[in-house]
Amino acid sequence: MSSTTLPHNYLENKSGVLYIDGVSTIKLAEIFDTPLYVLSENRIRENFRRLRETLLKHYEKIRIYYSAKANTSLAVLKILESEGSYLDAVSPGEVFLAFKAGFQPERILFTGTSVRDDELKFLIDSNVTINIDSLSQLKRLLKLHIPEKLSIRVNPEVGAGHHEHVITAGKNSKFGIWEADVLEAYRMAKNAGVKQLGIHMHIGSGILTIKPFLLAAKKLLEIACKIHEKLGINFEFIDFGGGLGVPYKPDEKPLDVERFAERMLNLFKDKIKEYDLGKPFFCIEPGRFIVCDAGILLTRVNTLKVTPFKKFIGVDAGFNTLIRPVMYGSYHPIVVANKLNAPEEEVYDVAGPLCESGDILARDRLLPKISEGDLLAILNAGAYGFSMSSQYNSRPRCAEVLVRNGEYALIREKEKFEDLVRGQKIPQWLN
Ligand code: PLP
Repeated sequence: MSSTTLPHNYLENKSGVLYIDGVSTIKLAEIFDTPLYVLSENRIRENFRRLRETLLKHYEKIRIYYSAKANTSLAVLKILESEGSYLDAVSPGEVFLAFKAGFQPERILFTGTSVRDDELKFLIDSNVTINIDSLSQLKRLLKLHIPEKLSIRVNPEVGAGHHEHVITAGKNSKFGIWEADVLEAYRMAKNAGVKQLGIHMHIGSGILTIKPFLLAAKKLLEIACKIHEKLGINFEFIDFGGGLGVPYKPDEKPLDVERFAERMLNLFKDKIKEYDLGKPFFCIEPGRFIVCDAGILLTRVNTLKVTPFKKFIGVDAGFNTLIRPVMYGSYHPIVVANKLNAPEEEVYDVAGPLCESGDILARDRLLPKISEGDLLAILNAGAYGFSMSSQYNSRPRCAEVLVRNGEYALIREKEKFEDLVRGQKIPQWLN
């Protein structure tokens, strides 16, 4: 029956009220309404800098590609652009947004899958580096254009992740090119006249241990060695993808970033020397690691419902706003933003407003005694939160706010009913 503990120091308890980067969550909810995503600029910068500085201790040619899919809001992209981040884009739309945020094409790597020819044309015109996912894509690209620089995504046969849906390498994965075809892919690119080549993997998401990264990296470096030996290719970069996890559950330990950097870069340096691979850039593509714990989702309690079996808290955010609990069975810490000093004494299920029995954000949570009107803060909601939200049940998407040292700014307006009909047309014969 203790009061609430907060996992990050940019979240503060001021007389029982949750503050984020010096701003009261109660005030934000009143001004901007709920549901509301709130992101801490300082925390995003801190996460990026911590990772870069740790990697730079071990090797000077480092590139961090922020994986935009975790949060594509322009303000977030702009923050990372100003930090010197590179960008991992997985759709032409993400390339478009990256340009809007000021990224130069040299700093963008496009990693798509099932890519259409018109999308390839868009990427060629955009002058970004394309990371090839299949022989089909490579053949179609080379027919359209011979790029100066190209990368190939390899399936290193080692996958990992917090849920089956986010494991992106191994036998069941649709991603990357199998080892048996990799040589052929590089031969095609080289013979076509591509000058600079990279090699890439991404094994999955939400990985909290170092072992899977090391196993897959070892495999990728062996493949790089074979390609170098057979085709004489000197890689401009070797990209180990994203997947660096962040703890969500109270008993999960954070990924040891110092050790991750040390082990990965020691392996990298040993192998590039042993295999005579020159001095390529060491690249990684974190998304979650950069933005996850920088964001919270505020949602207001509108209903309390007690059945013989359960106590439900009805809130205004459902899986239209945050899909992770439903899609991946994910756990997000939840605190009562206006009752941080109250003892946690009741067990509740937190239910969203959608007409779906699966619309449950949390089961069996020990929380302070809840009243209608209370404000919940769902923590670690900065990654794959807004970017995976939808208008399901015809609920307009919510707003996003950025906070910094006591200041706040709206970075995305709440949608209106008109947004539900935008682009829709009624055929003449129905009028
Ligand atoms: N790179 C690629 C190619 C991805 O597909 C993803 C996520 O799916 C990432 C990087 C980022 O993953 P994470 O947010 O787990 O770091």
